[in-house]
Amino acid sequence: MSALTLSRLKKSFGGTDVIKGVDLDVTEGEFVVFVGPSGCGKSTLLRMIAGLEEVSGGEIVIAGKPVNDLPPVKRGIAMVFQSYALYPHMSVFENIAFPLRVERLAEDEVRHRVGEAARILQLESRLQHKPGMLSGGQRQRVAIGRAIVREPRIFLFDEPLSNLDAALRSDMRVELTRLHKRLGATMIYVTHDQVEALTMADKIVVLNGGRIEQVGTPLDLYHRPQNRFVAGFIGNPK
Ligand code: ADP
Ligand code: MG
Repeated sequence: MSALTLSRLKKSFGGTDVIKGVDLDVTEGEFVVFVGPSGCGKSTLLRMIAGLEEVSGGEIVIAGKPVNDLPPVKRGIAMVFQSYALYPHMSVFENIAFPLRVERLAEDEVRHRVGEAARILQLESRLQHKPGMLSGGQRQRVAIGRAIVREPRIFLFDEPLSNLDAALRSDMRVELTRLHKRLGATMIYVTHDQVEALTMADKIVVLNGGRIEQVGTPLDLYHRPQNRFVAGFIGNPK
């Protein structure tokens, strides 16, 4: 079944076309990576799916339901950003629980969901700490925990590892892949990093100038790039 369908999706800012007619189908449970150079429209596309940006044309369907007119909280998605804002004065527990407090979930359900997220992310021993006492990787895991507790149908990640150093980034790639297998959720992951795309994706969507250049598995793109842009960008120039 389709988790997400984009049809002729468009976005313009003040008369400038930034997303120029994107068609895409994402199957439930897939790990899809949007990759492309800076400024090609990756974040804009993700923000439209999340409902943080109005569409200028076309349609977004999530789990069979058109969502163009639905606010972010009604879309069944959770987004993890590059600059994850944790509340410095709150414990890790309360940082992860925050979206559930907003939803006014019962206390035992909050404890259950935060406990489960902390177990998956190996943060159990850190729940009473403040964010300032954590490493960069642990802080990023708290931000991911905050998405997990909402039990979304679709996770959206916008360059979540770009503030981490190279060694940590490589560890987190493995962790995120493991998390995807474990949750079985649909994940859409934006990066400008070809290595991340090739190592993490079930399916890669190569974007350039607001259009899709090619969609395929990492092997497809690496061995059978459809044009020079994809060949050059994915790193197998011909
Ligand atoms: P990426 O995430 O791939 O780096 P973005 O989606 O952030 O690209 O941006 C795509 C283009 O849209 C860029 O040219 C950017 O300057 C422009 N853009 C993004 N957001 C806005 C906005 N709120 N107002 C005007 N232009 C914007
Ligand atoms: Mg971006």
